[in-house]
Parts: sequence; C-alpha cells; structure tokens
Amino acid sequence: MTIIHQASALAHFLENHVSRPFAFVPTMGALHPGHLALVQMAQKMNLPVVASIFVNPTQFNDPKDFEAYPQTIGADIQKLTSAGCEVLFLPTVSEMYPTGTHNLPTYALGSLETVLEGKYRPGHFQGVCQVVHRLLSMVQPQVLVMGEKDFQQCMVINKLIALEGLEVTLHTCPTLREADGLAMSSRNMRLSPQERTQAIALYKALQFVAANAGTQSYRALEAQAAAQLLEAGFSKVDYISIAHAETLFPVEDNAPLPANARILGAAFLGNVRLIDNIGWQDTATPL
Ligand code: AMP
Repeated sequence: MTIIHQASALAHFLENHVSRPFAFVPTMGALHPGHLALVQMAQKMNLPVVASIFVNPTQFNDPKDFEAYPQTIGADIQKLTSAGCEVLFLPTVSEMYPTGTHNLPTYALGSLETVLEGKYRPGHFQGVCQVVHRLLSMVQPQVLVMGEKDFQQCMVINKLIALEGLEVTLHTCPTLREADGLAMSSRNMRLSPQERTQAIALYKALQFVAANAGTQSYRALEAQAAAQLLEAGFSKVDYISIAHAETLFPVEDNAPLPANARILGAAFLGNVRLIDNIGWQDTATPL
C-alpha cells in the first residue's frame, strides 16, 4: 500500500499508477471490520481502492469529542494493507485546510440539517461536506463507498454530489455489527467494559420499535424505546425516530408505515455518543 500525505503527490500517483475507475473510502481512522467492509465492497466491484484517514476538526460540534477521538494509525495501516487497499491518503490539517478552518464554504442542505443528527449536532454536516468535498476534489474517484451506519450522512453526501454536480456515484454498505448486535464504531473503544455491555440496548431498542410498529402510536413507541435506553444505563437519549427514509421526517402518527421506513437512534452512554439505525423490516437479525 502506498501512503501519501500531500494532495499534489496523490494526484500524480493516481494519474500514473491507479487504473480508472477506482473507489474511494474516506475514514477517520481507528479502523474496525466495518471500515474494512467498505474496502471489500469496492473490491467486489473489481475496483482498486484508495482510502483516507483524516480526523476532520470542522465536523466536531463538541471539541471534547474531537480531542477524545481514538487514533490508532499504526494498526490502521496494517489493516488496510492486509485488506488489499492500494493507496492511503493521510493528510495533515494544514494540507486539508491551507487557509485555516474559518470561512469555509457552506452547503444548502435544507432540512437534512435540521432533523435528527442535524438538529442535535449543529454544524456537523457542514463540516462533513467541507471535508468530503475537498477530499473528492483531491482524489477524484468515480465511486465513493460509505456506511449505512451513518444513514443521514449518506443522504447528505448524495445531496452534496447533486448540489455540486460531482461526477461520482455513492455506494452504501450495510452496517457491520458485533456478535451481540452492537453496530461497530470507532467510538466503542471509549466504552468501559460495563458500558460496552450496556451499549447493546441501543440496537435492541431499535429492534423493539421495528417489532412493535403498528401496535400503538409511533410517538408512544419511540418514547418507550427511549425509556428502555435510560433503564439500561444510557445517560441521555437524543432521539429515537421512526422516519421516512427519503426525508427523515417522522412518520405521522396513525399513518401506515412506509415499506422503507427507517428507525434511527442516538444516545449517550457516559460521554460517548452512539448512533444506529435499521430498516423496520430488518428484524430478522438474531440476538
Ligand atoms: P468514520 O471513520 O466513523 O468516519 O467512518 C468512515 C466510514 O465507515 C463511514 O462511511 C461510515 O459510515 C463507515 N462505517 C463506520 N462504521 C461502520 C459499520 N459498523 N459498518 C459499516 N460501515 C461503517
């Protein structure tokens, strides 16, 4: 695997040594099998893979979360090498933002910025667009691979692609889970052993909602699931939402559940904020 730190060297290398089309997998490092599933998904499409690791300061609305973000670069390089990734782009903050992180472009994301993650993490998706737009212009991939674990982020990136008329196609990869069902996440490393045991309650709460949709009002079901999380040891629930997959607006109480309704949740276990989502028909996964 070739490791490159500068955008100009990256462009030169890609031009001369990587065949097109190729796929791009942007990450913030602290890699786990969920990230590697994205690499494998690109490889199944017979595409060479370029990955990046960059912990983007502009997408952290909470500076403490940025400082606490796990960094395991040595192990990450080994994992990407073993996975058969061809190129790793590893820029510094000044390489990504040569004129600083103020006065960056903003993007008209509409209601995606005011619902769910947008509401609870103000500015987060602007930061995501700033870094992904920059990365895409540096890497110029034909295919972008991202995880459904960040369902709303995938919607935001599709919006970015449309807004900017970018010539790249987003492919999304299903969420990889631990054996007990917890969605794999770099943030799981920050959980204490006790919190790690409690964390499964988030997936269980989403499954509870999916299994009981139709038996009572959606809002009552969301409230029950949130109560289950607090009962299980979560300190704060940002939301549990039964939402339309195209807009992430809540499905109206008493309306029939659309086939592709999405159930999304975000909650804190101590200082660690976890998110997860499932389709309401995804109840088959055994626990
Ligand atoms: P991150 O490093 O957390 O920014 O994630 C980088 C990419 O990996 C994003 O597209 C995520 O959606 C994806 N990802 C993170 N966790 C998982 C998972 N458990 N399964 C599949 N994809 C994931």
